[in-house]
Amino acid sequence: MDIEQGNKEFLDKLEKDEALRNRRDELVKGQHPETLVITCSDSRVIPELIFNSSLGDLFVIRTAGNVINEGELATVEYAIEHLKVKHIIVLGHTHCGAVRAAINNEKGQYLDPILKRIRRNIGDVPNELIATTMNAIAEKDYLKEKFPQYEGTIEYKIYDIENSVVF
Ligand SMILES: [Zn+2]
Repeated sequence: MDIEQGNKEFLDKLEKDEALRNRRDELVKGQHPETLVITCSDSRVIPELIFNSSLGDLFVIRTAGNVINEGELATVEYAIEHLKVKHIIVLGHTHCGAVRAAINNEKGQYLDPILKRIRRNIGDVPNELIATTMNAIAEKDYLKEKFPQYEGTIEYKIYDIENSVVF
């Protein structure tokens, strides 16, 4: 993946797509995304692609294992208080390397806050899909606990990287 080439292709696309260009220009005044997606950094899980959305549609937080630590919580607060998002989705996914690392008790120099949090969310469950689901549910519940006054919806979903279905 060549970053410069990729941007050049995007600019070419904008050149041809008037609606997209207009949308970009309109968004310069401000963003009003309705949905906050908290998902994994995994390169196979691209919210804008799998939810078929575009510029300005989604406010996105991505961390390995879609966990919500301090910085992520601050970003959620921003999305709720300032952007007034109406929906929050914690999106886990199948074959998640971070969940697998937590199950396997792996260590890293800086990984600890993430793996610790996943382990707290999944306990000793060895099954990856069950653990992934528990992890997403725990983060969804954590948000409900942290933002009890929030009036929008907070839910969790799982994305299957084998068939692209969100369930
Ligand atoms: Zn992942």
